[in-house]
Amino acid sequence: MARLNSEGIWREDLLLTLRTPHLVEDARRKKRCFVCQRTGINRAGLCDVCYSQLDGEELREANRYIDGLNP
Ligand SMILES: [Zn+2]
Repeated sequence: MARLNSEGIWREDLLLTLRTPHLVEDARRKKRCFVCQRTGINRAGLCDVCYSQLDGEELREANRYIDGLNP
C-alpha cells in the first residue's frame, strides 16, 4: 500500500511518480496532490506546498508538465 501523506512518501517515489504520466494524470483527475492529497494542484499533480519543496531532478520533471512537454 502506497503511503499518501507528505510525511510518509519517499523522495524516490515522488520522482518515480513524476516520471509516470498516468499517475500524474490520475492525481489531476482526482484534483488532489499525489503527495499530500491536498486540493488545488498544478499540472504536475502537486499542490503549491509540495511543488515548492521540489529540487533538482524533481523540479525538472514537474516542470515538463507545467511547460506542456508531458501530457
Ligand atoms: Zn501536496
